[in-house]
Amino acid sequence: MQAIYDLVRDVPDFPRPGIMFKDITPLLADANAFAECIRALCDPWRGKGIGAVCGIESRGFIFGAAMAQSLNAGFVPLRKAGKLPPPVVGMDYGLEYGLDRLEIGTEALKPGERVLIVDDVLATGGTLDAGRRLVERLGAEVVGASVAIELRGLDGRARWVSDAPLHALVSY
Ligand code: 5GP
Repeated sequence: MQAIYDLVRDVPDFPRPGIMFKDITPLLADANAFAECIRALCDPWRGKGIGAVCGIESRGFIFGAAMAQSLNAGFVPLRKAGKLPPPVVGMDYGLEYGLDRLEIGTEALKPGERVLIVDDVLATGGTLDAGRRLVERLGAEVVGASVAIELRGLDGRARWVSDAPLHALVSY
């Protein structure tokens, strides 16, 4: 996926000093590159019976919703605290830059439903891990996870303590 390397922009000291932020917006703005990215993100999961794609707020919504359409699956948002109407279940987790909480509607997934979790970037891995635990708490089956970008230096993959595969399109 050369387009990702070509189009993703490094922004130093954002959103905090010392953080090198990968800005994916130029990739989203390029019609061909975005379409190629969605196709490549979906390819490992075709024919795997994915019933729902769970996208993580907020950039996981962008990739996840497009992937859900392409995989003929439903889309379920994993949102930051206080954004979803009740009833919800939540999970607190640590981030590269602070603490956060993800929530999901308690009725959003069926027990045993086959779920793919999607986000834009894997950094320390706390967000994806919280998403996995939330989906499992509802009794659904995590078939795998996809991210467009893996930041290898932060070793987020080590926090993916699951036999389900974790796919990344590119890694830095
Ligand atoms: P983690 O929990 O793996 O440390 O952080 C991943 C979460 O933070 C993802 O939801 C992702 O959107 C966001 N994130 C962390 N670093 C970056 C970055 O450099 N670029 C972008 N676009 N998102 C990031």
